[in-house]
Amino acid sequence: MRRFATSLLPLLAALGLTMCSTSSEEPVSATQLRRMIARYAPTVITADTRALSDSNRQALGVLVRAAELMDSLYLRQVWSGNLALKHRLAEDTSEEGRLRYRYYLLTMGPWSSLDDGEAFVAGVPKHHPPGANYYPEDMTREEFERWVATLPAEQQARARGYFTTIRRAEDGSLHIVPYSQQYATLLGKASALLEEAARLTDNASLRDYLRKRARAFLSDDYYESDVAWMMLDSPIDVTIGPYEVYMDSLFNYKAAFEGFITLRNDKETARLAMFADHLQEIENNLPIDPKYRNPKLGAFAPIRVVDEVIVGGEAHRGVQTAAFNLPNDERVVSAMGSKRVMLKNVQEAKFNTVLTPIAARVLSESQRRLVAFEPFFAHILTHELMHGLGPHTITVDGRETTVRLTMKELSSAFEEAKADIAGLFALQYLIESEVLPKEMEQPLYATFLAGVFRSVRFGIHEAHGKGMALQFNYLLEKGAFIAEPRTGLVAVDFDRIADGVRALTGEIMTIQARGDYEAARRMLETYGVITPALARALEGLDDIPVDIAPEFPVAVSERAP
Ligand code: ZN
Repeated sequence: MRRFATSLLPLLAALGLTMCSTSSEEPVSATQLRRMIARYAPTVITADTRALSDSNRQALGVLVRAAELMDSLYLRQVWSGNLALKHRLAEDTSEEGRLRYRYYLLTMGPWSSLDDGEAFVAGVPKHHPPGANYYPEDMTREEFERWVATLPAEQQARARGYFTTIRRAEDGSLHIVPYSQQYATLLGKASALLEEAARLTDNASLRDYLRKRARAFLSDDYYESDVAWMMLDSPIDVTIGPYEVYMDSLFNYKAAFEGFITLRNDKETARLAMFADHLQEIENNLPIDPKYRNPKLGAFAPIRVVDEVIVGGEAHRGVQTAAFNLPNDERVVSAMGSKRVMLKNVQEAKFNTVLTPIAARVLSESQRRLVAFEPFFAHILTHELMHGLGPHTITVDGRETTVRLTMKELSSAFEEAKADIAGLFALQYLIESEVLPKEMEQPLYATFLAGVFRSVRFGIHEAHGKGMALQFNYLLEKGAFIAEPRTGLVAVDFDRIADGVRALTGEIMTIQARGDYEAARRMLETYGVITPALARALEGLDDIPVDIAPEFPVAVSERAP
């Protein structure tokens, strides 16, 4: 999975958030709509533009407009009737009508992904058509496959390509329309805006990316611009175009438009570089048999920390993206790897809106004041870095293989638990080495403990949630976490936590190093479950917002006329 919003779909039934009465015939009431909207807490997302040169600031203003065009493009991709519906909903000025339109703008369509994807508007299909507006609504998988089989090889590749739609002609036959034709007007405008921003910026790598992407919008050939994106080294960091294929539930072929206009966060980028400088040292001190340690770590995929100015298109809807990995084009990935982008101000907004209130309900009173964003974000960064440490290529019965292959379907949950717990281990190591301040220690663990509930709330059927449950239950058993029997509130035992973290890091990594599938299965079955202590703390979290509804004041003030 490339997209990391704060994964969440399975949680809703468990939290009683699913609607019961929605259907395309029975309209959703104002009360229900209000409750649905309240799951997204309005939150200001801001970024510091003071360090930008005048020319970059002007370029930023133009890029804001390009991001807005991604909204228009995406709305057209969602469903053939989506634009007409938007206009119809906007005209209904009754109280219920205004609420419905507000929720429509949040979801950018008439279906609510937090409610099993059901429609909240009358007169539309009950569920989102699986082919969205990429294919004719009445086309089946079988019809597509039969048709594709009749095409010459080069046309087959285009039919399955990221950047084409499939349309039905008058006579019922299917044909291919490239995005550059399908969305000619909007892409022409977007291309012109990127050219204009390219002329304005004083950063050569940004100019190069924007020019190449402007051309790609008109040619449907994104390769050169994806390569330029990998090389981007600029105070304004831009990701714009057709990217993710999740909305194409028929085939996962077609890419949805989106845009992230962001500013590079130099302070966090420096901190990341500082962590990276210590990685080999941390590897050399991992709590595993030295023979399992990697004496020479390979190169790491680049990680960028940025602050969002505005998002558009798919990134604008529903649960907000907090980090992403791109590009998706395998040719670029095999030549130069991929790049991970962490949206710091979005993480911070989620921390304030979702994690802080969770902490206030689940943590013992004396530890609530320890919860802080700084250690939260430091742990997110080390989590990412620790995916690169520990066993990967292993030898089982004299044969070379990988952890991922031997762990099969358990590999994601186990690897996520590893990255979390080893992230704590790494930070503890850096604190003990006096690279990080000792004062960070208690906030780190208290914040991590509150975060367990944020993740587990999204369900343990998903790798992160399951991995978190494993860590919580293991550390509780070891006495590193405590659940107060009377109140159900949880706390960290600061005398035991470092040992607990060390033990669990060692256990998980040793199982991985041995490729011991059975041991991993036992461990996940024992600990990766909703135990009574977890269930009790999870109770009563349902009225805490699921996510944020972002507001972008910087984009409003910087937008070019
Ligand atoms: Zn991870």
